[in-house]
Amino acid sequence: LRARLEARGYETVSARDGRQALEIAAQEPHPDLILLDVMMPHVGGIEVARRVKANAALPFMPIIMQTALDSTEHTVEGLDAGADDYITKPINFAILEARVRTQLRIKALVGEVQHQKEELERLSRIDGLTGLDNRRHLEERLEEQFEHANRLHEPFAIVMCDLDKFKSVNDTYGHQAGDAVLRQCATILKSAAREIDRVGRYGGEEFMLILPGTVLDAAVTFAERVRKAVEAHTFDLGDGRGTTIRRTMSLGVAGWPHPKIANCDGLVRAADDALYVAKETGRNRVVRFDSPEFLAHHEPAHLEGASGGD
Ligand code: GH3
Ligand code: MG
Ligand code: MG
Repeated sequence: LRARLEARGYETVSARDGRQALEIAAQEPHPDLILLDVMMPHVGGIEVARRVKANAALPFMPIIMQTALDSTEHTVEGLDAGADDYITKPINFAILEARVRTQLRIKALVGEVQHQKEELERLSRIDGLTGLDNRRHLEERLEEQFEHANRLHEPFAIVMCDLDKFKSVNDTYGHQAGDAVLRQCATILKSAAREIDRVGRYGGEEFMLILPGTVLDAAVTFAERVRKAVEAHTFDLGDGRGTTIRRTMSLGVAGWPHPKIANCDGLVRAADDALYVAKETGRNRVVRFDSPEFLAHHEPAHLEGASGGD
């Protein structure tokens, strides 16, 4: 069979027994298809089929069992164990080859579905405009980071960023220009962040960064660097006329662990509250949660839910 298959252009590898078959199936590159005998030493063919199909770490490998003409029982058992097709001995090569082609066609389809699934998963995690993590993914990452930090007693920080007076970009230059600014902003944040940081678009013109292993002070220093980078950037509106504008960003920073923060939601709220104070106190600023400045501007209004702001 090997000689005939190879003459037809297939590459083949043969296994002496079931044990070796399992080894070869587990090795990369994995075979595209397995032609399996029922009666084999060590591990029988039916058991091989069962184990290959039960191993979720392996890709889909179609299995064609070779059974004796009179062994209905083996055939049924083989198919139940996960074999995809069977062929009876003595083998008619033309039929075997047709069945190999059928199984390879199915494998190609399975591969396509798998690829599309991965692509959909990827798309469900990213923000279409900027290519950053989207909010849902960011929140998942934050939960993970929170658990990780608690397990290892490791600090981390988050930064909430919001572009200042961004609505006026849309109002003055149009929505597309606004989009161009958001994309450039994403690039600035990405290049300021380290490889292990997560950068995401939290909402319209709001971004969030997760900074693993970073204490509050270091996160404030980082946020200040981001603020300066945005302030220094000349945004190209991409309108074909070379129009450029300058923008600023306000940032709120909060760190975990913190005596006044109870959980993950609380951490986000803390950074958000700090961002709010940054807006209140003039924009283009970084405000640290629980700093004297934060307390001066935040707590009274927060506790009483009264006056000020709009
Ligand atoms: P502030 O300094 O208080 O943050 O003022 P602001 O104008 O930035 O804030 P506001 O929340 O009033 O406006 C946010 C604007 O962001 C409103 C909306 O038109 C715009 N926006 C949100 N998402 C997008 C987007 O995907 N593309 C564009 N071009 N604009 C967006
Ligand atoms: Mg804004
Ligand atoms: Mg906003």
